Amino acid sequence: MKILISADMEGATGVTWPADVLPGTPQWERCRAMFTSDVNAAVEGFFDGGADQVLVNEAHWTMRNLLLERLDDRVEMLTGRHKTLSMVEGVQHGDVDGIAFVGYHAGAGMEGVLAHTYLANQITGVWLNDVRASEGLLNAHVVAEYGVPVVLVTGDDVACEDALGYAPEALKVAVKDHVSRYAAVCRTPARTAGDIRAAAKEAARLAVRHTPVEGGPFTVAVEFDAEHLAMAATVVPGAERTGERKVAYTSATMYEGIRTFKAVTTIVSAAVEEQYG
Ligand SMILES: [Zn+2]
Repeated sequence: MKILISADMEGATGVTWPADVLPGTPQWERCRAMFTSDVNAAVEGFFDGGADQVLVNEAHWTMRNLLLERLDDRVEMLTGRHKTLSMVEGVQHGDVDGIAFVGYHAGAGMEGVLAHTYLANQITGVWLNDVRASEGLLNAHVVAEYGVPVVLVTGDDVACEDALGYAPEALKVAVKDHVSRYAAVCRTPARTAGDIRAAAKEAARLAVRHTPVEGGPFTVAVEFDAEHLAMAATVVPGAERTGERKVAYTSATMYEGIRTFKAVTTIVSAAVEEQYG
């Protein structure tokens, strides 16, 4: 049994503030240890549950956050940027039986600690076929095309609630309870590690590949915080202006859908001016 862990940071133990997840800050240095603790707990739990292989794919920011030297020796870790499937890279090779979303968070415009979808500020909402979308929901549709079930989700309580919509069967572990975008009631790394390890052990039972789901077409709508960003996004082939601050595009598969989303976010990031946005 092979498990893939997609590891994002905003939903990690103890994390509640931009500097906590911003590479290079002293707070990030401290929080990356707690992030590593969450991921390692999931790794150990999956091995407890019978996995033979666990691959961790770094999915946050520069994708260089986890402390490899503190992980269980049986694991392998994919570090760094530029990957075809981004946050769920590694799922496409036909050998993954289940995926875990560790450290996930609520989507843009939702309540939740550090809630966002790809871009921290400029995207105020994403919809997939008219359903409000988080990164978890988008990625769940991608992995479904490869027949891989989402078996475990960790994050704040809002991220866990969000996961009920896209992975009802998956085990969920809330490592903190949302109070505001920048505040949460947190539990210690030792305690959350115990909870995550126990859940991952149980989640291993759900790691059974299914028939790939062909759920398309997928219409993705993206709303920005400024009009010019919607205009900038229309250089991406297929992205049409659907409102003053909105674009939408339709893809036959989520493989294409997530790649187009990445193209939109990359173009839009480059169109943001420091002072005026
Ligand atoms: Zn994220």
